[in-house]
Amino acid sequence: MALIVAKFGGTSVASPERIQMVAKRLISIKQQGNDVVAVVSAMGKTTDELVGLAAALSKNPPAREMDRLLSTGEQVSMTLLAMAIEARGYRAMSFTGRQAGIKTSTEHKKAKIQLVHADRIQTAIEEGYIPVVAGFQGIDEKGDITTLGRGGSDTTAVAVAYGIGADVCEIYSDVDGVYSADPRLVPRARKLDVISYDDMLELSSAGAGVLQARAVELARKYNVVIHSRSAFSDAPGTLIKEDDPSMEKAVISGIAHDTSEVKITIRDAPDESGIASKIFSALAGNKVNLDMIIQNVSEEGSTDMTFTCPESDLDKAREVVENVIPVIRARDYVVDENIAKVSLVGTGMKSSPGVAARAFTALAEADVNIILISTSPIRLSMVVAADQVEVAVRALHTAFGLDSDSVFEETMLSAEELEAKKKKGR
Ligand code: ADP
Ligand code: ASP
Ligand code: MG
Repeated sequence: MALIVAKFGGTSVASPERIQMVAKRLISIKQQGNDVVAVVSAMGKTTDELVGLAAALSKNPPAREMDRLLSTGEQVSMTLLAMAIEARGYRAMSFTGRQAGIKTSTEHKKAKIQLVHADRIQTAIEEGYIPVVAGFQGIDEKGDITTLGRGGSDTTAVAVAYGIGADVCEIYSDVDGVYSADPRLVPRARKLDVISYDDMLELSSAGAGVLQARAVELARKYNVVIHSRSAFSDAPGTLIKEDDPSMEKAVISGIAHDTSEVKITIRDAPDESGIASKIFSALAGNKVNLDMIIQNVSEEGSTDMTFTCPESDLDKAREVVENVIPVIRARDYVVDENIAKVSLVGTGMKSSPGVAARAFTALAEADVNIILISTSPIRLSMVVAADQVEVAVRALHTAFGLDSDSVFEETMLSAEELEAKKKKGR
């Protein structure tokens, strides 16, 4: 008998029929003699629709109200799932983030979970219920509702798993595990049986949307084993866990892509001390999240400063840059929104020279121009034009010998859902 947390994403609870499937699966986990706690996302595209409603009324909705609004999505799915389980003769009880005892920091829209007081969930389990917890939300010290950033239900699931001492945190989605690249972009991507926390964290941070990076970070910190698997099949998925000597040490574990960033270049700033400090202090003061930073100094003593940031921070970044340009006496700035970042990830990279050369050659042969490059000990990221992302990821996937003999097969998604997934990924 095991204690299992089972998290279901938006696609898995998108309709009453799918909620029925989830209810059946939870009941079957229970029938096998396990205890189970469900964590759910909002139905289908609900969160996007709520964001759209807010945008129709306000250019800059107050973050507190935004979180209050977005948290309602998960509150609908949790109650419907509890009803579906009850209708099948099993006991279920839904819990909002507050009721589940999820305490967070106060930063609205990207709050961090600090503590889970899981007493109510524990009691419900002991009384024979299947607790159903609303993902993505918690409560701060003032008693206000917070949300955990897009994809945050994964983090709720890991936090609850840690809070109740679960044996495993199962994350069910519309793919049957973690692949060597997004299988929707690379049909020959291969499913990984197991991946270390470090590699998974780097993949998620570099854009692999299958697991939220925060969730992996939390799982690593508290040693929670994650099982990423399909909501539509019983096939085993991918285990995300502590690195151990039996794990295969591939040079490259996977390739992630991210089309959600933009590039800004401040041109012709004087090449003198203090310029970078002024630019980046102003950006930090306005909470613009930065990713890559590259400086080019010309022989004439001027410098171009380029950085990338999430598209969602672009308005803030523009405002900061426009204010800072006269202060640092730079000429002007340009924005490029049509970029994509492609990242090779693998802990094996540390001990394997030549990865960069092989990657650059593969992209050159595929006629892909590299705009920016950055590295970490276990990651090599390259920015390319957005319309070349597919060619770039596929070329790298082949060049590093990751192509599988089989082709990824879609299960269960409607044409409309597939279209939405494609848009999200690109
Ligand atoms: P959920 O809504 O259930 O949380 P997500 O849409 O957040 O599911 O995550 C699943 C999606 O992640 C898949 O549909 C897939 O297109 C995408 N994805 C990106 N990178 C990968 C990868 N390396 N392996 C598997 N899926 C990936
Ligand atoms: N519903 C939220 C989102 O769409 C959280 C989640 O799905 O994990 O981002
Ligand atoms: Mg997700």
